[in-house]
Amino acid sequence: MKTAAIIVAAGSGLRAAGAAKLPKQYAILDSEPVVARSMRAFCAHDGIACVVVVINPEHRDLYDAARQTVPSAKLLQPVGGGATRQASVLAGLEALQRDGVDRVLIHDAARPFVTAETISGVLAALDRHAGALAAVPLADTLKRSADDSRTVSETIDRAGLWRAQTPQGFRFADLLEAHRRAANATATAFTDDAAIAEWAGLDVVLVPDSPKNSKITTAEDLAMAQQAVGVFEPRTGTGFDVHRFAEGDAVWLCGVEIPHAQRLDGHSDADVGLHALTDAILGAIGDGDIGQHFPPTDERWRGAASHVFLADARDRVAARGGRITNVDVTLLCEAPKIGPHRAAMQVAIAGILGIESSRVGVKATTTEQLGFTGRREGIAAMATATVLLPA
Ligand code: MG
Repeated sequence: MKTAAIIVAAGSGLRAAGAAKLPKQYAILDSEPVVARSMRAFCAHDGIACVVVVINPEHRDLYDAARQTVPSAKLLQPVGGGATRQASVLAGLEALQRDGVDRVLIHDAARPFVTAETISGVLAALDRHAGALAAVPLADTLKRSADDSRTVSETIDRAGLWRAQTPQGFRFADLLEAHRRAANATATAFTDDAAIAEWAGLDVVLVPDSPKNSKITTAEDLAMAQQAVGVFEPRTGTGFDVHRFAEGDAVWLCGVEIPHAQRLDGHSDADVGLHALTDAILGAIGDGDIGQHFPPTDERWRGAASHVFLADARDRVAARGGRITNVDVTLLCEAPKIGPHRAAMQVAIAGILGIESSRVGVKATTTEQLGFTGRREGIAAMATATVLLPA
């Protein structure tokens, strides 16, 4: 059973934009775009095989920046949306139609607080129903005012009334057909997919959700969301590693291969910089060390490229809902010269961690020919990492 998620991010919604004049789905929530949080929630869920984001093509640069912070292989190429939400969802469905998708969840990009529990709840409901949507029972009393004077004309019984949220899930073929029929019938006023499914005669069930998964629409919503995500605590970790020189013709340092009169000896590619950095990140989240997760006695890691270890540490941070804010590596050696390779190392590390290179420090020093590094017997590396974890 293959389930895809479509994240609808094509709106130009500037109501919540604030001073930065960014569409609400790209507004910054605790230093990352709203849409990135939505993308991460679906990419991180085991029940979701692939994720496609429907964007306004004019926002491509904004999307690319957001995508950088979500290093997931589940993310497909973004799809250009239409003039309405309905048209955008149809564009997303059409883009997935040759991917062998059985079920699809549609989610609003501007609901960044969707939880794994909600996604699981909608998926479970789809086992028994053609459609399922996250929804919240109404708690407030509803009044109707029919005219501009705001005189109350009626109080509406709230019993049985729910507020529709997303994700909304369907069997893929059902929803695609319903959307195509609606488009052909020029029935274009639907504001969510459950309404189209009802219109098409599908049985749709409500899945109780948290009001926290509400949509960011106004500047006030955005301010409240920013408060809600403010409760992160910074964590710092350190790492240290040493590898000795052996006969060879190149060393791997911070993800870059450098021609040299010797190589570094080790079970993996012996990238001492990435090893120290991996330990720094693991240290920041209190999750053991590189030797515990990748024992040198395990044949699987013989000759392994060390970006595998660093990517694992990155994923452990993501699994905790955390974010790496900056890392810093110092290499201690007499040779090779690091300066000419520093920029490439920053880019390599930034690429593995999915952060900007401006958040990566790479430095080098000699030890004035003192000690084992001074005698050119090996290379040492130290690293620190700062991670924000939900408090
Ligand atoms: Mg090592």
